[in-house]
Amino acid sequence: MLIESVNPATGEIIGKVESTPPEIISQIVDEARRAQKDWMQLPNRRRIELAKDFGRKLFLRKREIADLISRENGKPVVEAYTSEIIPALDMINYFAKNSRKILRPRKVRIGIPLLKTKKAFVRNEPFGVVGIISPWNYPLLLPLGQIIPALLVGNGVVFKPSEYTPVVGGMISQLILEAGIPRKVFNLVQGARDVGAALVSSEVDKLFFTGSTATGKKVSELAAKKLTPVSLELGSKDAMIVLDDAHIESAASGAIWGAFMNSGQTCVSVERCFVHEKIFDRFVDRLQEKVNHLQTGSGTVVETDLGAMIHHTQYDIVKMHVNDAVQRGAKIVAGGAFSDQAGCFISPTILTDVSMDSILMNEETFGPVLPIVKFSSDDEAVTLANSSRFGLSASVWTRDKKRGMKIARGLRAGAAIVNDVIGYYGISDGVVGGVKESGTGRVHGREGLLEMVYPKYYEIERAPRWKKLWWYGYDKNMLSFFETATDFLFAGQLSSRTKALFKLIPKFLRTKKI
Ligand code: NAD
Repeated sequence: MLIESVNPATGEIIGKVESTPPEIISQIVDEARRAQKDWMQLPNRRRIELAKDFGRKLFLRKREIADLISRENGKPVVEAYTSEIIPALDMINYFAKNSRKILRPRKVRIGIPLLKTKKAFVRNEPFGVVGIISPWNYPLLLPLGQIIPALLVGNGVVFKPSEYTPVVGGMISQLILEAGIPRKVFNLVQGARDVGAALVSSEVDKLFFTGSTATGKKVSELAAKKLTPVSLELGSKDAMIVLDDAHIESAASGAIWGAFMNSGQTCVSVERCFVHEKIFDRFVDRLQEKVNHLQTGSGTVVETDLGAMIHHTQYDIVKMHVNDAVQRGAKIVAGGAFSDQAGCFISPTILTDVSMDSILMNEETFGPVLPIVKFSSDDEAVTLANSSRFGLSASVWTRDKKRGMKIARGLRAGAAIVNDVIGYYGISDGVVGGVKESGTGRVHGREGLLEMVYPKYYEIERAPRWKKLWWYGYDKNMLSFFETATDFLFAGQLSSRTKALFKLIPKFLRTKKI
């Protein structure tokens, strides 16, 4: 079956890819497993060289890839650079530079003296073959944030891009193979839900799923049948809190960009904005003024600020959220225009007087819509921000860093930012991941790399001829010995009886018959 990739701004078909039959996914995983055995034996430095080579290839074709992202996903080409190409290149450099240090084996310190004949350490081992299922909203950065660390540590990878961005997925695969990473170590599969489900049900050793919370739950359920570990990066309803002492001008610009970049189709978009009553009117005025300068149109036009929505379903969800809010009394103070004539465009929309019960305040909207709600105290703001089943990130805006940090500590989210939004996603040494229904996994940084390995314990007994004191031969003497040893170890009691008993150790060992 052919998947047609369509430019959401124009309807132009920009490519066709063959969908992978779901029934051959298991075979692909088996082949990846065979190839991975040699791959994990390569010296780390060789895998690092190949990853760097991939980075160089991406760098050389950056403009072509940025244009492709813009055409396939609809986002402005400037955003393809700032939120995909640049952070992806930095992430490759980061893991190439730091992965060995982060994964260095750990020497085990042995506490109980009777075990001190052993030498032990913990090594981080690759899982084997990992499955990576990605969404369409950041078709380059998101998959690479998992593919690169997975390969670097020695895993085989089976990658399924979104059916809405298969051409960017194909481009990733092409560059990986051109960089010299073996074909069966890295595998691209194309397709929609059925192909994703086949990958989840296959014999992969770990799954990395990035997508909506609803799909994440299905994936988790299916994976549980085989107890396949799953790392989930899911949806959210991120809150922005603007305190009465915030820099109104920059907070308003932050809110506009945080809510509308990528047409609001970012997992860490500002989806709820809580503003202190003292500055509420001034803040809304600034938003209204700023929003007038934004241009909506084809992402490939350099001046475009908001591109087309990815598809009709997403467009319809956003429209439904706005209509529901309006029916419950919300006022549209900017935007509100929906056009699906040639491509699905939504003008950046701001609402006030939004009921906390409306769908817009509770479900992920994933569109260029900013609902603003008033609060009157710091505690109320934290309660409102936390009143969500999601928790990916949240921000607080204030001139007082201490007050900001106090609020940040109270926010139930995987990230809490003082005076900025979204940009933290590009910090390779940071960490991204959610709490509550926003997911269980982590990407980027040390924690993201550790998702790609499992800790394996190694031990060498250096006195192999000795039977162990605690092996069979249980009797009164043995009990007495261990009682005394316990007193010595945990209460520091070194009595004459203890000393006498310790002298008996060699005898014990000689008389152990079993
Ligand atoms: P989606 O859940 O519809 O699809 C994501 C991927 O899962 C696609 O590749 C799709 O083909 C596949 N899929 C669909 N059904 C499946 C099934 N039953 N089994 C296995 N795979 C299946 O999400 P989307 O619309 O592509 O992406 C938008 C969502 O992703 C938003 O909710 C957004 O918040 C979330 N997201 C989260 C993060 C994060 O880091 N937390 C990042 C980006 C996007």
